[in-house]
Amino acid sequence: MSETVTSPILRTVLATQQAAFRAEGPVSAATRQARLQRVIDMLVKHNDALCAAMGDDFGGRSTVFSMMNDIAGSLGSLKHARDKLAQWMPDQARPSVAPFDNFGATAWVRYQPKGVVGIIGTWNAPVFTLLSPLASVLAAGNRAVLKPSEIAPRTAAALARAVAEFFAPEELAVVTGGPDVAAEFSGLPFNHLVFTGSTAVGKLIMKAAAENLVPVTLELGGKSPVLIGQSADIRNAAERIAVGKAMNSGQLCVSPDTVWVHASQLVPLLSGLQEFYSGLHPDVAHNPDVTPVVNERHFARIESYVADAGARGARVVMAGDWPSAEGVAARRMPLRIVVNPPAEAEISCHEIFGPALVVRSYSSLSEAVDQLNTGERPLALYYFGQDASEQQWVLDHTLSGGVSINDVTMHPALHDAPFGGVGASGMGHYHGHEGFLEFSHARAVYSHSAHDPRREWGMLPPYTEQFAQMIRGAVTP
Ligand code: NAD
Repeated sequence: MSETVTSPILRTVLATQQAAFRAEGPVSAATRQARLQRVIDMLVKHNDALCAAMGDDFGGRSTVFSMMNDIAGSLGSLKHARDKLAQWMPDQARPSVAPFDNFGATAWVRYQPKGVVGIIGTWNAPVFTLLSPLASVLAAGNRAVLKPSEIAPRTAAALARAVAEFFAPEELAVVTGGPDVAAEFSGLPFNHLVFTGSTAVGKLIMKAAAENLVPVTLELGGKSPVLIGQSADIRNAAERIAVGKAMNSGQLCVSPDTVWVHASQLVPLLSGLQEFYSGLHPDVAHNPDVTPVVNERHFARIESYVADAGARGARVVMAGDWPSAEGVAARRMPLRIVVNPPAEAEISCHEIFGPALVVRSYSSLSEAVDQLNTGERPLALYYFGQDASEQQWVLDHTLSGGVSINDVTMHPALHDAPFGGVGASGMGHYHGHEGFLEFSHARAVYSHSAHDPRREWGMLPPYTEQFAQMIRGAVTP
């Protein structure tokens, strides 16, 4: 597909897939497994080309990171779905309707594919945000059309070539293009739409999908908080936060955004973050392991957040050398830690999504949780501490898409647990059994008994007094 996919072409791709879906009838486990295996084979064959394209799209992202995050991450989801779908597919028997169950009436739930699923991805994990949901979509027996992000155009083109080599377009297709194509895409009558991206665009997607009553899975972002309890090993917490924050230079949906620490532990936390982050990336400007900020627009956005916080009097601590001209030119930046910025600062109001971090000191953890709970529900929440009752209290008094305890960014790697947000961070999930359910229609089936006792029991009009009493007797607390 070209960069100028037009509405009629999009509609044709969708109509062709929907016709093929109708013609196919039931989609066996073997067919689903074979499709998943073909995506796996495609990644095995094209992983070098895809990693090279991701490297170029970022202006120099490490192949090791792309291989780990996008290739191995997607393969994990695809293999898990391939190996488990036969367990997920069978009909589930359910208790039938009394009193007909006594005469042999049965009931079950049948999980059927919905049809054709549209999947819109992001630039930060340009392969994973398409192929990881695709694992659940194909496991559920659907066909799919992928729309990669225009901010990673070389990856989009490489993926389109790879998919075209392994799949007929009526089974799996890729359409490329910018926000205009994405907007058209989200207005089409897919049988389900998966969108990964910002909360602002997520709202547009949901509006467009509503026109056709298309169900949506929205994988959005937000300001994922880290709560450090006083029982935490502060150096250990600093090291794990630094490791998670360094991944893709903070351009991860589950990247730690705001760290809450007791005032007495602020100084050791800051020095630990500085030590461990700069230990990972002793040189920034020329370091191939430091992912550049993806483009000038996002670079300017992050820098403006840091500058705005500084201008409002917040302390900015550098983890590593101060940015050099070469680092700026390469869009490779050290981590800037912004301490206790005012609530109205830009960095307090927007998802950072880059190499900067907010640290806030608290005097009691419940105060910090109260503040968190007045904001939007985040995609991820992290707790560090050894106090089991406090850990339980944090889980009971907060809500987020997922949680990692004593680490960050780990729970999305759980292939057998749902991945998704809640509230402003999204709705619905992929991964695991929940992902299979998300893209299946759970269809209730009732099968009546050979013998129908309704007439002889006076259950049909004209209603008898005896039946009226029987019904009254059934109205119980
Ligand atoms: P984005 O919302 O700007 O773009 C995402 C996709 O939306 C792109 O493919 C783009 O073409 C499309 N798009 C843009 N304008 C559109 C419109 N008007 N109508 C329909 N589609 C449109 O997001 P981004 O900058 O690519 O990614 C960053 C955001 O994504 C962050 O908020 C991050 O937290 C989030 N994210 C979430 C997850 C997750 O799994 N929850 C994963 C990665 C990123």
